[in-house]
Amino acid sequence: MKNHSVKKLQIMKMKLFATRGRLKIRLWGMALIVIICTLVMAGSTILISVASFSKAHTNLMDVKQFASVFEAANFISAERGPANILMTADDTDRSQAYNNWKAAQQKTDDALNKLNASIIPDNLVQGVRQELRLGRRKVEATQLKERAMLRFDEVQGAIDQMFAAWDSYRAIIQWQAAYLLRHDRDLGAVVIKGMMLTSLREYAGRLGSYLVAPMALNQPIPEENVIESHVLRGYIRDMWYLMEPSSESHPDSSPIVQKRKEANLLYMNQGLALIDEQVQAAQRGGAFSLDTATFTKRYVAAMKPLGELRGIYLAASIDEFEGREGTARKALYHTSAIAILILVLVIGLVAVVQYHIFGPLFRGAEAIVNLADDRPSNLSRESGHVAEIQTLYSAIEVITAKLKERSFLMSQLEHLAHTDGLTGLLNRRALDDLGSSITSAEHGERVPYFILADIDHFKAVNDKHGHLLGDQVLREIARIMRNTVRESDIVARFGGEEFAILLRGYSAADAAMVARRLRIAIQHHLIAIPGGSSLKITASFGVAECKNVPWSEIVNRADMALYAAKAAGRNRVRFSGYDDVRQRKKLKEASMTLSCQRQS
Ligand code: GH3
Ligand code: MG
Ligand code: MG
Repeated sequence: MKNHSVKKLQIMKMKLFATRGRLKIRLWGMALIVIICTLVMAGSTILISVASFSKAHTNLMDVKQFASVFEAANFISAERGPANILMTADDTDRSQAYNNWKAAQQKTDDALNKLNASIIPDNLVQGVRQELRLGRRKVEATQLKERAMLRFDEVQGAIDQMFAAWDSYRAIIQWQAAYLLRHDRDLGAVVIKGMMLTSLREYAGRLGSYLVAPMALNQPIPEENVIESHVLRGYIRDMWYLMEPSSESHPDSSPIVQKRKEANLLYMNQGLALIDEQVQAAQRGGAFSLDTATFTKRYVAAMKPLGELRGIYLAASIDEFEGREGTARKALYHTSAIAILILVLVIGLVAVVQYHIFGPLFRGAEAIVNLADDRPSNLSRESGHVAEIQTLYSAIEVITAKLKERSFLMSQLEHLAHTDGLTGLLNRRALDDLGSSITSAEHGERVPYFILADIDHFKAVNDKHGHLLGDQVLREIARIMRNTVRESDIVARFGGEEFAILLRGYSAADAAMVARRLRIAIQHHLIAIPGGSSLKITASFGVAECKNVPWSEIVNRADMALYAAKAAGRNRVRFSGYDDVRQRKKLKEASMTLSCQRQS
């Protein structure tokens, strides 16, 4: 029965430790799944954020690059103004005009040098430079001429060559536009508007340039120039109206709307009116009302907001892409931060569950197994425990206290079961248990000896002095016996007025000596009787050797020896097996010698 419950306990312990490992693995397994899911979700969101950030970043770089391409186009357009003035200027103004033209050339060249050589095909740039060189050479040749010698086709030829330089530059704009659209179709609006605004500025410039040669040479405007001008005006108007910004996306106060208003007034009204005015004057009287320098200066001033409009528009686009880049970067940071936060939370949560719930739970289970195993529970409370765990630990503490109480009661019961109530010595049952185990185990020279003592004429004591005094006699005799033998020897109440002493590791002479000493100690002890007198008591002793015989036989032999002691007249010791007088005498002498040796 006991074996069965021990086995059960062992199985329970094994299960407990196996479950602990499994649950821990499950808990962290689940956490790992959550972490992986979070990583996958966060990873895909982060990838999207990274993609949108890199797209916004690339677009921003592209738009900035495109703006620099338009810049160069604008400088090529703008170079014609000073060139026209130089070619048609009076001799006196020429030096200043020359310097202006050279400064404009420098701006164009700087802008061309700034173009991204790693992206734009070199042959396109070289083509533009070639056309520009030709145009500039023609302008140079023309400006060197005396005013009186100036020919219409030379001036117009130089202007046309400068147009050709811009036209060749258009290939770079187109190439760059295609490059941008290949990157991202969403850039279409920026590309088209940028191109339209650049073309608008160019066409406006050309419109003026068509009047320069006739104006300088005071000749009627040639038919081709009139036709070209009409076509250009059509383009200009088309583009102007196509580019009207929507009132939804561009409020009245926006810089684009403001600049458009300015361009509308200065160019679309006043600039075009200036052209019309000169054309009409020329057609009416064959003479222009302005000289080329004045006309060009006024007309270039009127065109200024057109160039600025393109600049503002591109700057707004760059701003927008910068904003998108910033938003994408923020989204990237936020997503990463949230992912890290979730990971930390999951790990923290699992650690908290492990620390506050599973850990204490298993310690509780271990404590209960320990209690079942009669070991201390080793349970310690911590302030961080949740209420349910506190309750569980309280219950375990109550169980621990109850088990302690029960084990104390059990030990008391056990003590009572083996103790004689009157004398406090071991009782018969305890003696039998010890006696059975000792005799079967010990052998050799020094063996256990069993002494059975019986108080002489005890019935008479009871009869004469009463049972209470009898009880006192029994207690005092018990105390004498206990004090006379060694601590390791066993003294028990055998029953009634009989006592038993179990000696271990003695010789026969030792045992005889002990019995004798007991006998004499009892004989000399005076028991006080109420009333002042005292009582003398004697006892008889039977001794048996505990060797290779069952306990019952030992008891029997001691009893027989005791009987012999009684029969011989009481207050004496008899040894089992020492029947003959000589034997007994020898043993008595040996024990007495031993006693004397010990005393001396
Ligand atoms: P003997 O010398 O032959 O041993 O004579 P005895 O009178 O001692 O022998 P007997 O066996 O006739 O008497 C034993 C008595 O011990 C009988 C009984 O009343 C008494 N007795 C037994 N147990 C107790 C006890 O616990 N208390 C008291 N007061 N007397 C007891
Ligand atoms: Mg008796
Ligand atoms: Mg007796």
